[in-house]
Amino acid sequence: MAAQEVQTVLTEILGRVKALDPANARHWFENLTVLHFDGGSLVVGCPDEATVQFLHDKCKTSFTRAAQQITGHLVAVEFRICTEQQPSRPRPAHRTEPPLHPDYTFENFVVGPSNRLAHASCVAVSQSPGNTYNPLFLYGNSGLGKTHLLHAVCHQAREKLDGAVIQLLSCEQFVNRFIHAIGEGNVLGFQSQFRTVDMLVIDDVQFLREREQSQQEFFHTFNALYNNGKQIILSADSPPAEIPSLEARLISRFNWGLVARIDPPSYETRVAIVQKKAQLRGLHISEEIAEYIGQKVQANIRELEGALTTIYALAVTNGQDVTLELAQRALEGQIQLADRHTTISDIIAAVTKHFDVRLADLQSKKRSQSITMPRQICMYLARNLTRHSLEEIGGHLGGRDHTTVMHACNKIDQAKRSDPKVNALLNELTRQIANPLRG
Ligand code: ADP
Ligand code: MG
Repeated sequence: MAAQEVQTVLTEILGRVKALDPANARHWFENLTVLHFDGGSLVVGCPDEATVQFLHDKCKTSFTRAAQQITGHLVAVEFRICTEQQPSRPRPAHRTEPPLHPDYTFENFVVGPSNRLAHASCVAVSQSPGNTYNPLFLYGNSGLGKTHLLHAVCHQAREKLDGAVIQLLSCEQFVNRFIHAIGEGNVLGFQSQFRTVDMLVIDDVQFLREREQSQQEFFHTFNALYNNGKQIILSADSPPAEIPSLEARLISRFNWGLVARIDPPSYETRVAIVQKKAQLRGLHISEEIAEYIGQKVQANIRELEGALTTIYALAVTNGQDVTLELAQRALEGQIQLADRHTTISDIIAAVTKHFDVRLADLQSKKRSQSITMPRQICMYLARNLTRHSLEEIGGHLGGRDHTTVMHACNKIDQAKRSDPKVNALLNELTRQIANPLRG
């Protein structure tokens, strides 16, 4: 087959992939090339490792199905870096786990009042690592763009800093690698790997809680990098001082640079994000529908994307155009869930019922175990299931201050880890709170 024909087959396959899996289709699919095609095997050429990884993880099944449907026979699909497309300049060294997500760039990040500071500080750090904010600490609830920003910094720094060693990983991976190194008797190897990078980016550092030995190791890694002017970027679901059981010296270091909070996005930002996500997938979306999604889905940005996918999946399944009416139908079930936020009252109702105590007791000064435990469980659940601050939670439970709430959360968290019965009880209460009607 001539090269031109081969590329046409790929174009048809890409069209089919888009119909089969709109959530993972991207406008940059147009830039993919064919490296090899012999009827039974198709090797797709990609510009970089991040693209290969994305296609391999998210799109292999849809590519295989599409190739089969278009060609009429079984085709094994593979993705590889297309070296011809690569500039001769060697790629800077970087190690990232997971590999950088090709969508998570500054270009694809919508800036609004809720994330302006976090975004600006990430841009500054990627331009001049080690020289502006060190460490940079981002925090905010789940689904508000922390991981996206961390990847964006790494993308940018990779472009900018030839040869710099950038290490991005989740805190869980850091801890697991450390434990593995201890098991293998190779702690020195672990240390030399992490203490010699130019930029260390660790996502979700709340995972360090209660892991004393890992905290110690992290402390020394931090110092080694910091003292050498190397950039450190961290993210977590709460500010340093509110991460349970985090050593004071780590809290203090995390506060040395800039601590930037990300808030839930405003309506305008949500609409702009929906439009950006649609554009990224090569979908056309009317303003009316983007506004509808922005109004209906408020909780987190991951859910905004989910709504978009649900709408397009319904359109593809029914072979219909995306209209407002179709969007409303697609989101009907989802919205009921999204509209129903868990409140402290839901939590108090479930806990008082389970322990057979009264709200007045929880709010009172009583300190008997039969009252203290349910009160602490309320605080723990409110912390984990709602967006209220420690102060607000304390306010609902008899005007207690934030350190009392924090102490309660730590205590229940510890009990949950060490006592399977407590763990089961918390799971059961959480289930009841999510489905109050079924009790
Ligand atoms: P977190 O790490 O805070 O839980 P993520 O970075 O995983 O959140 O973000 C969840 C999803 O929302 C990702 O797909 C991300 O691209 C998207 N997202 C979050 N904030 C924005 C934004 N401001 N603009 C565009 N997409 C965003
Ligand atoms: Mg994340």
